Amino acid sequence: MSQQAEQFKKIVAHCKEYGFVYPSSEIYDGLSAVYDYGPYGVELKNNLKRYWWESMTKLHENIVGLDAAIFMHPKTWKASGHVDAFNDPLIDNKDSKKRYRADVLVEDHIQKIQEKINKEVKKAEKRFGEAFDKAQFLETNGRVLEYSKQIAEITERLATAMTDGDLDGLKQLIVDLDITCPESGSRNWTEVRQFNLMFSTQLGTIAGEESKLYLRPETAQGIFVNFLNVQKTTRQKIPFGIAQVGKAFRNEIVARQFIFRMREFEQMEMQFFVKPGEEMQWYEFWKDFRMKWHRALGTPEDKLQFHDHDNLAHYANAAVDIQFDFPFGFKELEGIHSRTDFDLKSHEAFSGKKMQYFDPEEEKSYIPYVVETSIGCDRMFLATLSQALQEETVPDAEGKDSTRTVMKLHPAIAPVKCAILPLLKNKEELTQKAREVFDRLKFSFQCQYDEKDAIGRRYRRQDAIGTPYCVTIDFDTLEDDTVTIRDRDTLVQERVPISALEGIIRDKVDMNNLLRAL
Ligand code: ATP
Repeated sequence: MSQQAEQFKKIVAHCKEYGFVYPSSEIYDGLSAVYDYGPYGVELKNNLKRYWWESMTKLHENIVGLDAAIFMHPKTWKASGHVDAFNDPLIDNKDSKKRYRADVLVEDHIQKIQEKINKEVKKAEKRFGEAFDKAQFLETNGRVLEYSKQIAEITERLATAMTDGDLDGLKQLIVDLDITCPESGSRNWTEVRQFNLMFSTQLGTIAGEESKLYLRPETAQGIFVNFLNVQKTTRQKIPFGIAQVGKAFRNEIVARQFIFRMREFEQMEMQFFVKPGEEMQWYEFWKDFRMKWHRALGTPEDKLQFHDHDNLAHYANAAVDIQFDFPFGFKELEGIHSRTDFDLKSHEAFSGKKMQYFDPEEEKSYIPYVVETSIGCDRMFLATLSQALQEETVPDAEGKDSTRTVMKLHPAIAPVKCAILPLLKNKEELTQKAREVFDRLKFSFQCQYDEKDAIGRRYRRQDAIGTPYCVTIDFDTLEDDTVTIRDRDTLVQERVPISALEGIIRDKVDMNNLLRAL
């Protein structure tokens, strides 16, 4: 197993063992690509959502929130293009009976070639040491140039086939590249077919097309149909934005990679309404802002990258992904799209209601253009954990090397901010005092009281869920009202008065630390 695959396995196991993420309905063997968030998972997820929400609605006076229903009038999805065009191309392998997304098979093939390039770079890095010039190597090495050429050609053919909806072309590409089924190893493929990703259900008791409802596949449409309601009730002037966090549902063909691709997931979307012609400047603004948002969490530069779309969706005139280096390679974490006036115009046509904004400065009405930022909360959760979960060697109580698993989450998003630990369990003076400290801090922070097991083991448990601070109540505490406070990352233990605890912890875990960095 590759190092990356091993790391991914560890993340999934850690999520289960420490109460971050469980498979849904596990006692019935789970439900494919559906997951439940456990006690620490829900705290972390809520913190990520809060960070996103506040960065939008608190920092920008022209961005307001919305919580639209999951069910929408079925015409919504006709207007948005989802009924006719929200399809993925699927292909089956006749031997393994496994189903794949045809475009993903090709993308995985490209990724393999990219890995060959990465290997060449690593080898050369070793060989040339300090003198190694990566840019020059990429531009001149024969093998790398050949691989890059292959990638460019395949990407071009894939983009053309996807844009034209050319299913035969896509199949031919899979055949030409000699792609085999990862399960059976065979090339025995079916034709490529289109598959609509929307889940449907019925309204009321009468079955039939008339009462067919869809579970929303994106939260954006709830924002579009409410655009004038919000604009009028909040008296916003263009440019302004509407932010929403909510569930979305997609009947994904390939459901693997844990919470990366789920059938029920959560999106954090913001639609920014601008004057036509000004969309590109706002597109650049939001690209920059969103990248800063990720970096503020401490994610290293080389783990995030922009990736321009090779084939634009029917509604977009510019689109870029923010990709994260997941344990299975660089993949989309967030999309930033310039959606033109496609959605509002289409809703105007389908509903017969005007979707125009009256611009008091220009003294005319028009349909605004839209720039959207759209990030999956669950993908963000996975990116965060992949980055944070580490194993490191630290000295134990006797000063000997020991390995600890630690989740180096930014303190502002850590599920538990502070653990309160009486040194001994069966000394009532200590446990009582610890309870007092807990009761004092619980109003300000998510705290945890833990008295079970030796103190070292309790520290390790807190490290594993990313708690930035552990406060220990010992016999000195009873004398002078001081405690030790241990820093998760430096392992330094300081003796401080109980009265100073709240200030020390707040300094580090305050969400504003993140927001101020934006
Ligand atoms: P992909 O190409 O990976 O299928 P997408 O381009 O269809 O993603 P968008 O429609 O742009 O995704 O959705 C915006 C964001 O929602 C994505 O960047 C991703 O973070 C998240 N997302 C989309 N589909 C899923 C899913 N099935 N499970 C979890 N998150 C998802």
